[in-house]
Amino acid sequence: MTELTKTLELKLVDPNVHKRQKLRETRDAYQQALQAAFAAGCDTQSAANDVVVEYDLSGYAKNALKKYVPQLCGNSYDADKLHDDHPVRFTNEGLQLDHQPQNAIEWYVKIPHHEDYHLWIPARANPEQREWLESLYADDAEMGESRLFERDGTWYLHVTATRAVEDQSTASADERTPIGVDIGEASLVTVCHRDERGSPVRPQLWADDGKAVRRLRKTYFTAKRRLQQRGSERIAESYGDALWDQIDDVFHRVTREVVKYAKSVENPVLVLEDLTYIRENMDYGEYMNRRLHGWGFAKLHAQIRYKAAEKGIPVETVNPRNTSKACHACGEHGYRPRQATFRCSNDGCWVGEYQADVNGAINITDRYRS
Ligand SMILES: [Zn+2]
Repeated sequence: MTELTKTLELKLVDPNVHKRQKLRETRDAYQQALQAAFAAGCDTQSAANDVVVEYDLSGYAKNALKKYVPQLCGNSYDADKLHDDHPVRFTNEGLQLDHQPQNAIEWYVKIPHHEDYHLWIPARANPEQREWLESLYADDAEMGESRLFERDGTWYLHVTATRAVEDQSTASADERTPIGVDIGEASLVTVCHRDERGSPVRPQLWADDGKAVRRLRKTYFTAKRRLQQRGSERIAESYGDALWDQIDDVFHRVTREVVKYAKSVENPVLVLEDLTYIRENMDYGEYMNRRLHGWGFAKLHAQIRYKAAEKGIPVETVNPRNTSKACHACGEHGYRPRQATFRCSNDGCWVGEYQADVNGAINITDRYRS
């Protein structure tokens, strides 16, 4: 087991005038308390407490100060370094994270302001850190201290997170068994791999979960429209939250099962389609957009990634071009007479008709080797 720690970077998105004002108030109060406690030479937590208790700050910020100031005083810290843009620290669990995948800005953070007042602000995350946010949001990573600061008029939040991962086996890339993971329409997720003779084996489809997620999304959009027409924004929002939580539960169960599947294969490597590549190729058109936005493509990827890491299973990505169009046996392009069916256009190919998602998963599997 190895413990990983990372600083997650969140950029607060256009806080309105009121929220900006509140953020500044928090920062000013924090810095005044910090200066005062430092000037008083507080070298113990209780001494720091006596000073910071007077300030209009949340318990999270006060507790962070109580820990921080004695460290500064003990280290004969240079007072000049306590400059204006010193970040506001909050102790762990001071922040809360919310995820609204249906919104353009998906993540929200709850920032403590003072004792019984906080701010919810949308935040843009570093896309590379998506798996960390997913694991934090699912309580599979632990939140540490966070720091709030302003730079050139923009507010940022840095959150420390920790999670445990299993060490990977030392098997080389050639010794690994690639398992293709296809995320799609008919089946939420499909996995398949080839046995030592090269035959596709043990295809597993999460088709019912695909159906369930589609139904939940449809319910959400219908209900939202109806509630908005009646002017019940707030009800629409809390109703939406409940539905997205249900979708997230499905995602978590399915991604756990995908990792379990991988765990049952010797020296596995999970192979996913490269998201950046997909985004750059807009000719994938509406179908791909629907996959990306509607199906929580990135969310499923991130969950698979961090859960695979927890179990010491490597994850690789491959170019997704034509993985759903090509025949896994002969490579010719085929078509879909029905949603879940792939038909090879090559008359000389034995495949004929094949389950479309499994065909895609095998293509993804094979791309790992090529
Ligand atoms: Zn074929």
